[in-house]
Amino acid sequence: MGILDDKVAIVTGGGRGLGRAHCLALAEAGAAVVVNDLGAGVHGERTGDSPADEVVAEITKLGGRAVANHASVSDWDATEALVADTVAEFGRLDVVVNNAGIVRDRMLFSMTEAEFDAVIAVHLKGTFALTRHACAYWREASKRGERVAGRIINTTSGTGLFGNQGQSNYGAAKAGIAGLTVLTALEMRRYGVTANAISPIAATRMTEGLEVGASLEAGPGGFDPRDPANASGVVVYLASDAASWLTGQVLRIEGNRLNRLEGWTVSGVYPSRSGEALTPEELMDAVPRLYGAAPAGRATGVGQ
Ligand code: NAD
Repeated sequence: MGILDDKVAIVTGGGRGLGRAHCLALAEAGAAVVVNDLGAGVHGERTGDSPADEVVAEITKLGGRAVANHASVSDWDATEALVADTVAEFGRLDVVVNNAGIVRDRMLFSMTEAEFDAVIAVHLKGTFALTRHACAYWREASKRGERVAGRIINTTSGTGLFGNQGQSNYGAAKAGIAGLTVLTALEMRRYGVTANAISPIAATRMTEGLEVGASLEAGPGGFDPRDPANASGVVVYLASDAASWLTGQVLRIEGNRLNRLEGWTVSGVYPSRSGEALTPEELMDAVPRLYGAAPAGRATGVGQ
């Protein structure tokens, strides 16, 4: 018995890298998997190959259940059909892993409108589109009195949470996905649906040539801290009934370590002296104090 027996999952961008690892892990845990991947290059260009079919063949060979889907996640109608086709094929839908992604890195002062739009379309709109159609399906099922245990598992990134130069399109999309996760959790809790996001680190095509996870140490016995499969155990856990209590969270996976992340929190407060609205004059003294800088000094940088 696997912990996901009888569950049905869709994984977007499931043909390569992290998505492929998630598909294999979900199938191994007993889920039927719809492997979505349109076969794109790292910048979103069509490659003409079909990594989704290759992953389906791998899963089937191992005795699992899987079918391929070649829609682009940023296609509204195609993602609606993806949900409908999944239900037609397997009778239900339980888990959506929004993972598909591309990059078009450039410093923001040189970034083109097309580079910004393309990245937002795949990550942010793609995550929204499939989430929206899946949530409509779960809401209807819940209204019919069916037991719903829906799971949205989104993919954010350290770039969206902490920043990284040259990735303003990608970071904005990933920060948007973290926010969308919180909103999805709030709106869907009453229908039995949870929404969480992972922030993984992995050596994949997307991170080729980058020093991703350079500080992560290899473990004993040849453990590879940059193996995409390191994030998949968390995906399987979040997909399971055991995680029904956890929603609206961002979980960061660094090799064999899981970090609990907290979002924006209030870490200081300055009430105006007068009790009226803050004035620019008062703020000249108050803001540096609030940020721990000497008055007339300036705050240090952001990010890392
Ligand atoms: P990858 O390039 O190996 O895989 C991405 C997959 O998405 C590809 O198979 C591609 O064909 C598919 N894809 C692209 N556009 C698509 C579309 N419109 N519709 C359907 N499929 C599409 O990259 P990866 O590193 O495995 O990235 C997976 C996810 O993890 C992405 O969302 C990425 O931003 C995120 N992420 C990766 C890392 C990392 O260190 N690799 C870190 C943080 C977040």
